Amino acid sequence: TGKRSGRGGVRTFEPWMRARQTLLQDLEDDLPGAAERGELSVVFQPVVALHSGEVPGVEALVRWQHPRHGLIEPDEFISVAEAQGHIKAIDLWVLREAARQLLPLILAGHLRTLAVNFSAQHFSEASFMGQLRATLEETGLPLSALVVEITESLFMEDHRRASVLLRDLLREGAGVAADDFGWGYSSLAKLQHLPLSMLKVDRAFVATSAQFPGIVRSIVEMARSLNLAVVAEGIETEAQLGALRELGCGYGQGYHLARPMDVPALSAWLAARPATSLGSAQPVPHDQ
Ligand code: C2E
Ligand code: MG
Ligand code: MG
Ligand code: MG
Repeated sequence: TGKRSGRGGVRTFEPWMRARQTLLQDLEDDLPGAAERGELSVVFQPVVALHSGEVPGVEALVRWQHPRHGLIEPDEFISVAEAQGHIKAIDLWVLREAARQLLPLILAGHLRTLAVNFSAQHFSEASFMGQLRATLEETGLPLSALVVEITESLFMEDHRRASVLLRDLLREGAGVAADDFGWGYSSLAKLQHLPLSMLKVDRAFVATSAQFPGIVRSIVEMARSLNLAVVAEGIETEAQLGALRELGCGYGQGYHLARPMDVPALSAWLAARPATSLGSAQPVPHDQ
């Protein structure tokens, strides 16, 4: 979309297209040094147990405060970082920073797990496990507190190295979550051989879970038979929350439960939360 042909077949280059191109070029140029310049930060979104209201952990999400363009969302720059090959450094930076910031909350028993997103690119490198361990050792976060989130597509091709690596992680007590789950898998047969401990149901299926519960229901049933935890992503309404509880979905994330927050806001949110709350909507700080 966006390309429009003029009458004589001449393409008009509209102002917004030029602005967009400038933005993308700037992001490409400026991303490599962003971490060093202190422009990257991490926010944390709680994962809520839908029946007890407990908060077992959080997911770390990266943010980029660009000096001229302001706050840039990961959907804008992760693909740039992947194309440039900078994503691996960024992911490890996020892991280090998130672990450092969250360790006090984990040691105090307020949270058990930290989930971090890892690009598929790590899994084609033998050095990844070593880098992961070194980063955790540096911060003091135990491997058993980490949940490694990877996109479902990593499993689409037969990534032998990825499988071995993820199996090692599971054996050592880390969690492995298939992010944005629901598009790629057709069969239970395939899923049962994958080294996973958790499925994160894609927001698109969560959005329609109240009207069309079929897909989430079958994911929950599949997960139960394979002994996998299920997290519904992007819960935005009370109706979705109710439907997901009824479907037996174990965990949820979403703006209706809590926005991604920095650590001070997260600590306050946790402290304000009644321990046995059923996880219904709470006043939440704005996305940062
Ligand atoms: P994701 O891992 O599936 O993360 C969930 C995204 O959904 C986050 O967007 C979160 O802010 C957003 N979200 C949470 N609840 C709701 C809701 O109720 N409604 C809506 N509409 N959205 C909700 P964010 O932070 O913009 O991240 C987007 C994606 O960027 C992530 O999707 C993940 O794939 C990627 N990403 C983020 N941080 C990192 C990172 O450190 N490394 C890598 N490799 N990827 C990252
Ligand atoms: Mg976003
Ligand atoms: Mg994720
Ligand atoms: Mg996701």
